[in-house]
Amino acid sequence: MTTGRIAIVGASAAGLTAAEALRREGWDGRISLIGDEPHEPYDRPPLSKQVLAGKWEPERTGLRAADALTGLDLDLRLGTTATGLDVPNRRVLLGEEALDCDGVIIATGVAARALPGAAHGAHVLRGLDDALALRARLANPGRRLVIVGAGVLGVEVAAVARELGHEVVVVAPEAAPMERAVGIEAGDLLAEAHRAHGVRLRLGELVDGLLDDGGRARGVRLADGSELTGDAVLIAIGCTPAVQWLRDGPLDLADGIGCDSYCAAAPGIYAAGDVARWHHPVLRRPVRIEHRMNATEQGMAAARNLLAELDPERFGTRREFAPVPYFWSDQYGFKVQAYGDLADADQVQLRVLDKTDPGAPKAAALYRRGDSAFGALSIGVPPKQARALRGAVATPQPWEQALGVLDELAS
Ligand SMILES: Cc1cc2nc3c(=O)[nH]c(=O)nc-3n(C[C@H](O)[C@H](O)[C@H](O)COP(=O)(O)OP(=O)(O)OC[C@H]3O[C@@H](n4cnc5c(N)ncnc54)[C@H](O)[C@@H]3O)c2cc1C
Repeated sequence: MTTGRIAIVGASAAGLTAAEALRREGWDGRISLIGDEPHEPYDRPPLSKQVLAGKWEPERTGLRAADALTGLDLDLRLGTTATGLDVPNRRVLLGEEALDCDGVIIATGVAARALPGAAHGAHVLRGLDDALALRARLANPGRRLVIVGAGVLGVEVAAVARELGHEVVVVAPEAAPMERAVGIEAGDLLAEAHRAHGVRLRLGELVDGLLDDGGRARGVRLADGSELTGDAVLIAIGCTPAVQWLRDGPLDLADGIGCDSYCAAAPGIYAAGDVARWHHPVLRRPVRIEHRMNATEQGMAAARNLLAELDPERFGTRREFAPVPYFWSDQYGFKVQAYGDLADADQVQLRVLDKTDPGAPKAAALYRRGDSAFGALSIGVPPKQARALRGAVATPQPWEQALGVLDELAS
């Protein structure tokens, strides 16, 4: 049955990009873009940077101007939660309402993970409202902020809070900031940078629970019984895929939505962005990537492949989704950029390019798996220079050859 409708669930980076790609490719049927937040699609990376720092007002995070959104001729349903998906019939459930569709793209992202058994009153930072709440809390300098978690989000917030004149302590079980994302070698360099800016790092420590002061978190209790107190607490311990609404269905929800290398979870059902786990044909394993660039690229890929499945004569054949993963993070004045696959490296070769100021590190690294370079990292290196490293891992180069690129950068 042709319904003339494609539904996209999740109206953020991946969902909106998918809608644009559908139109660009020539889909002239209806597009229902469904998002549970009340806001028009907005960008998340500035939330922990410019918005929290008070440099940007919320309007500036909008992903598209109003007329660009109108131009897409969407059936845009904001403040609307998808409650279920009838996979064989491609029917999206919105409470009492059911949308029959030719195809569905799921782009529901992830939700901030809470501390098990946590009391109320601690901050998380996933959406615009979260950012504004934390910003209000940090409006006057001299507060004491306790951050649980030393991942990208935790340390970005630490950097902004220090710049705003707050005392900051970061507590995490890892041995270094961003250790899971970039490894211990680069993590140690970042630890030095944060210490140089006055952040207290309590690494290798487990948090046992929140200290609750009449509904407002006033610190955390550590596993050894000691306490870290503050005026505000941010829980930044990662996220969980937003798949609760799909629980009763047949999709593989082991970690996000399991997809093949074309981003298909089932016939006519595709997934994109933070929520999608797909088989990466170059990395040869399932991956789920919680980074902004991937949301855009996968939104486009899922849209194109869905159209190709629906009408190959008109839209061509499906293509495997094989991006070079990329993410960046801004901390103080420096940028961290990562290309490719940095996980489970057999070897990391890190070159410190400039040691003068530990608060403004400059370094580059390559990550080896087997005989090839699969990942590359730069810290404090101008984006143009750092892109040379991308070439070394876009198609994984033999390790020795890739080291040549690193040497050139260091020379
Ligand atoms: C504070 C912050 C800073 C970041 N900084 C960086 C950075 O510096 N670099 C980088 O590479 N990445 C960064 N990221 C990650 C990047 O923003 C994400 O990868 C990107 O937003 C993912 O887009 P998405 O569309 O897949 O998911 P999301 O942006 O999570 O959007 C999913 C949308 O779906 C909605 N939704 C969920 N369930 C339902 C439902 N049942 N019905 C309807 N709607 C639903 C959600 O509310 C949300 O609006 C940052 C993220 C955050 C939170």
